[in-house]
Amino acid sequence: MIHIAKPLIGHKEISAVNEVLKSGIIAQGPKVGQFEHEFAEYIGTDYAVAVNSGTSALYTSLLAHNIGKGDEVITTPFSFIATANMILAVGAVPVFADIVDDSFNISPDSILENITPKTRAIIPVHLYGHPARMDEIMKIADDRDISVIEDACQAHGAVYHGRKAGAISTGTFSFYPTKNMTTSEGGMVTTNDKTVADKIKMIRNHGSNEQYIHEIFGDNLRMTDIAAAIGIEQLKKLDGFNKARQENARVLNKLLQGIDGIITPSTSENNIHVFHQYTIRVTRQFPITRDELRVHLTEKGIGTGVYYPVPIPKQPFYQTLGYTSTIPVAQRAASEVLSLPVHPGLTEDDVLTIAAAIQNAH
Ligand SMILES: *Cc1c(COP(=O)(O)O)cnc(C)c1O
Repeated sequence: MIHIAKPLIGHKEISAVNEVLKSGIIAQGPKVGQFEHEFAEYIGTDYAVAVNSGTSALYTSLLAHNIGKGDEVITTPFSFIATANMILAVGAVPVFADIVDDSFNISPDSILENITPKTRAIIPVHLYGHPARMDEIMKIADDRDISVIEDACQAHGAVYHGRKAGAISTGTFSFYPTKNMTTSEGGMVTTNDKTVADKIKMIRNHGSNEQYIHEIFGDNLRMTDIAAAIGIEQLKKLDGFNKARQENARVLNKLLQGIDGIITPSTSENNIHVFHQYTIRVTRQFPITRDELRVHLTEKGIGTGVYYPVPIPKQPFYQTLGYTSTIPVAQRAASEVLSLPVHPGLTEDDVLTIAAAIQNAH
């Protein structure tokens, strides 16, 4: 079986965890501080604050930017549900702009169409590891004094016009096992704004800086030293992991380009795509449907994923909230996308097997 994702945990991670367990400091401690320091340096921001998930990174970022009741936050309908759910969690209203065809990322034109006097933040997602059009998004935001929070939960190490994803505004990362690097569960916020960093440090710790003195609202969203120890080792391997993903993507591109009805992922010149997912479109020109191709690949022992089959405002829960968002590009993408294995655990043979199975599908 060729799996769609596979965390690569080596003996370095295992002995680092062992050391933490033996040290007796197993909740948030010095390893978290070290991981934050090294992650900030890697992304190129002044601060990084660790939390217990990517979801918590989004949640604490929204709170730290003072987003709440009565505010609207524009985001993409074509993402993991966490992006929108955390807007609801702080009491604000998610507003869904449509996406662009090529990269599947949020459309700056559609953001403009959805701006109202209540818009207080924009959350672009660097979907599949490819950066969103940040220059246009930052310009829209700066002109209006709107906050931007990058959802870089799929984009560890991706580069937009010379800067790492998550370094352009407040950045949020996930270290879930399927991501480009893992800590088991875990998350991080990156920022150059000391006020934001300090506030998130308090929010993750029940609004407290000083034991049992609580200055602001908070929760327990802390990362453990066990997770941070894994993260420190994984961060050292991240560039190597990403290189392997890029090489797998390059071979897949070469073998799949030119197949009628298959559209391979696009990368724009000034960006570095880190291929959290390698996502093709299966269009009507292909001899079988996307879902039939999925079944065919499963029968050949190849795991695939559809990220995401239902755009967020079309999800049953969002339907109960009354969403009627017009998002034709996202809806077509939801019916056409298929993610193929691209992770660094693949062998050369695996990549050839995947391509051959698609070439021979009919
Ligand atoms: C994984 C992911 C999240 C959430 O991260 P968790 O660590 O699972 O909470 C948020 N947004 C996107 C785009 C993701 O891929």
